[in-house]
Amino acid sequence: MDGLRALPSVDRLLSLPQAAGLIDRHGRRAATDAMRAALDDARAELRAAGGAAPDGAAIASRAAAALDAAAQSALRPVLNLTGTVLHTNLGRALLAEAAVEAAAAAMRAPAALEYDLASGRRGERDALVAPLICELTGAEAATVVNNNAAAVLLVLNTLAEGREAIVSRGELVEIGGAFRIPDVMRRAGVRLVEVGTTNRTHPRDYRDAITPDTGLLMKVHPSNYRIDGFTASVPAPAVAAMARDAGVAMLNDLGSGTLVDLTRWGLPAEPTVRQAVAEGADIVTFSGDKLLGGPQAGFIVGRADLIARINRNPLKRALRLDKVRLAAIEATLRLYRDPDRLAERLPTLRMLTRPRDDIAAQAQRLLAPVAAMLPDYRVQVVECSSQIGSGALPVEALPSAALAFSGDTGDAPELLAARLRALPLPVIGRISDGALLLDLRCLPDDGALLGALAAR
Ligand SMILES: *Cc1c(COP(=O)(O)O)cnc(C)c1O
Repeated sequence: MDGLRALPSVDRLLSLPQAAGLIDRHGRRAATDAMRAALDDARAELRAAGGAAPDGAAIASRAAAALDAAAQSALRPVLNLTGTVLHTNLGRALLAEAAVEAAAAAMRAPAALEYDLASGRRGERDALVAPLICELTGAEAATVVNNNAAAVLLVLNTLAEGREAIVSRGELVEIGGAFRIPDVMRRAGVRLVEVGTTNRTHPRDYRDAITPDTGLLMKVHPSNYRIDGFTASVPAPAVAAMARDAGVAMLNDLGSGTLVDLTRWGLPAEPTVRQAVAEGADIVTFSGDKLLGGPQAGFIVGRADLIARINRNPLKRALRLDKVRLAAIEATLRLYRDPDRLAERLPTLRMLTRPRDDIAAQAQRLLAPVAAMLPDYRVQVVECSSQIGSGALPVEALPSAALAFSGDTGDAPELLAARLRALPLPVIGRISDGALLLDLRCLPDDGALLGALAAR
């Protein structure tokens, strides 16, 4: 057991030149613990296998590797090459630079969040963004909360607690992550009245269901699915008219919603918030981090008297936004004042509108260098379809291009996918038809992928 005796002491390890950097990065306590653990490992290996003792430098670099790995942020940046632009599990929208800067500035210094600089008195935090939201949507008033789920909860609770809300069966959606409209309604203290059938709902279905207990008529954008074939639904203006006749409010939950007409960029049509407001909804709700391309948030726009009631609900306090997100929202919304440059400045729109030819050219450029880095796999450029994601325009596909990897064994694509997820900057693709696809739509530049693959 000469090897064991040759092992250095912890003190000796801590006096090595490498230790200084380790102590500097992680503190003396953590560095000492890591050295001790690396030493224990070396001792165990010697006992098991014998041989010569590793030198101090080798043990210290093991300790450094373990400590640096453990110090990585739990929220790891990744390369999203799944082909889904607004990927909920990968954090949905990327913020525009202007929004990132505004959020960072709000984090660093005090800001007039609820402070009226003219009078020196208390102000309203919503006043920071409400005028902009109204300008961009044509709504009379607006407020913002934590996310669209919170927006729906707050609106239902304020306008229909203890009463009934009428919804078409065809619109009782589950959004994913187990967010189900019926569950939210129950938690809001609202009794759900389902009308129509899954595929067909008519105006008389709503009319027959309206009673003195009705508190609200609701329309929900069937975000993540589409009913095709023998179908009928009641358009928003007709639902709004029936609500008006009954003397109750009409809520239109748009889900993603968009502030601009996406067909302008050749994208599939999606109802704009302005249209939903113009169609007579008393309240419209939509997300901040879906097509809008901002931070997680829920927007509530509509009639001023109803927004005032919503703001007086004590739940509003529990669901309100902090200064960081308000700053990011304001900066994001400002970009919409110049639609001509929106696709350049808003990452979500930039990625959604990236031309197929541009993506295919990038795939051709990357083919040879990537193939050289992963010699165990066959790589080729293939055509594929990207998705918008987050329930927006679910069946519309965006033509794109991918690097497709296959191997000699059936599980090769899964194994490669796992290897790429284990990189220091994980690369996330998708498996399709027995191949691992890296859809390049959301790849910022060639170097990002080559750098990630090189860091093995
Ligand atoms: C996505 C979605 C929601 C939930 O929005 P979050 O911002 O994720 O909370 C609610 N309703 C519809 C129709 C949606 O598409």
